[in-house]
Amino acid sequence: MSLNVILMGVQGAGKGLQAKRIEARYGIPQVSTGDLFRAMRVRSDSLARNVQNIMATGFLIDDATTNVIVADRLAQRDTRAGFILDGYPRNQAQAAFLEEHLAQQGTSLNAVLLLELDLYVAFKRAFGRVTAADGSSYNCYYKTGGVDFHWLADVNGQFPPRLEATQADSDAPLRRRPDDASADAIIHRIDTYVETTQPLIDYFAAKDLLRKINADQSIEAVWADIERALDQA
Ligand code: AMP
Repeated sequence: MSLNVILMGVQGAGKGLQAKRIEARYGIPQVSTGDLFRAMRVRSDSLARNVQNIMATGFLIDDATTNVIVADRLAQRDTRAGFILDGYPRNQAQAAFLEEHLAQQGTSLNAVLLLELDLYVAFKRAFGRVTAADGSSYNCYYKTGGVDFHWLADVNGQFPPRLEATQADSDAPLRRRPDDASADAIIHRIDTYVETTQPLIDYFAAKDLLRKINADQSIEAVWADIERALDQA
């Protein structure tokens, strides 16, 4: 039997990190539409350029493009035992497409895990986030250990201060995702989540697929709740 899981939650709720743990524990791949779109950065065709431009604003890519990318990814062999969808579906049309697509493949969803997080905390988690070369992430408001953070004022005072982060021991710079560095883009992402993604909570609850997890706990505590929910699924 396969384990087909959707991981829902506002940006900053820790979906990516917990998806990696589910991947390791249950042997099913994380399918992140955000990662699939970011991977298109190396391409220079007009579709790829259009995707990068839209992502930089915090708005959603159109459903047709997104659905094709997900269907292609789910056609790969490694999803046979199941998958963890991270960042998809993000609206009603995508949810309907996914369910129809899975039904055609003779399978269906087993669980929708909702990582619940206060939206102000979500803003700080995204805005303060930086990533090291090895993929580990830190946050200037929540997780600073071993990293030096500085807000650099613009010399002419025309632009907001810029966040710079370096490893305390090696001075190696950490990266900030361009769409996290823009407060406006984060606000658009959170607004989009409230307007278009949150309605899916009721939709999946009505199908008895929804499992709520408190995302405002330690990574370990969130993980324990996820394992409990998935073992029951
Ligand atoms: P994420 O990494 O999930 O925050 O996604 C980053 C960006 O990719 C989003 O702000 C959207 O522009 C785009 N994106 C990711 N997933 C979807 C989706 N399911 N539908 C439309 N756009 C998406």
